[in-house]
Amino acid sequence: MFDATYRRSLLWLAMGSALAALPGAAMATHSWGGYHWARTSAQFTLSLGNNLTAADWVSYLHQASSDWNSPTSFGASSTPLLTAVVAGQSTKRCSMVSGTTQVCNGKYGYNGWLGLASINITGGTHITQGTAKMNDSYFNLATYNNPNEKLHVICQETAHTFGLDHQSTDGSSLNTCMDYFSNTGSNAGSTLSTHPNAHDFEELNIVYAHLDSTTTVAATTAASAGVDITDDPRSWGALVRQSVNGRSSLYERYNTDGSKTVTHVFWTVEAAAKCPSCDHRFEHHD
Ligand SMILES: [Zn+2]
Ligand SMILES: [Zn+2]
Repeated sequence: MFDATYRRSLLWLAMGSALAALPGAAMATHSWGGYHWARTSAQFTLSLGNNLTAADWVSYLHQASSDWNSPTSFGASSTPLLTAVVAGQSTKRCSMVSGTTQVCNGKYGYNGWLGLASINITGGTHITQGTAKMNDSYFNLATYNNPNEKLHVICQETAHTFGLDHQSTDGSSLNTCMDYFSNTGSNAGSTLSTHPNAHDFEELNIVYAHLDSTTTVAATTAASAGVDITDDPRSWGALVRQSVNGRSSLYERYNTDGSKTVTHVFWTVEAAAKCPSCDHRFEHHD
């Protein structure tokens, strides 16, 4: 069942080696599949719908939004993508809303995931709507319930809906929230990887260097039905990529309206460690 994916992984490995051999090859390489919001101006504002039900999550969302709006605080000069925290618009369980990213927390259960980001794609690359979810079933546990880990995850899940992928998944810190450093255990007090770094803004500037003739930001048309994922992980579609340590997975689903829904999953340390190469959806989680 994973033959095609495996072959593709080998192909990517081969291409990666070829790129690595080229001196001066592009440094910014963590766009998420080239996915981006269509827009007609060089700088645009993405609404982040605040569906959060806890005061600390609200403050972390405002911090993340402020960080992503402040390239100069992180050694970068500019950003094409501004964010604005607005009132939540999801009608149920973090449902997608066209032209926006909806941000939610909830007790999604002991299903192995800490954070989840989904985007709906039309025309191959254009993001039309997104969601970022944080799982309080785990964040209420002592292991994960600290400001640094929460800020790390909400900063990352939100930015996946900008079209950003991870800079690293091996657990080391590049001091960006787009890595998989774990602010838990002996690192619970560490503020490493709780904000973006300059490279994230460099990547955003590359992804959004062109203009589109249309816009998918703040679209007024109703979102297509049936493109949303549900709380059932089988709704994520097929597993297409997973990090070696098993903490990061990417799923894709093709929808009947021709669009694609892509989901990034941030697994707990425990879920990943049990069987790093397994599809954690089908394992038992404590
Ligand atoms: Zn475009
Ligand atoms: Zn992620």
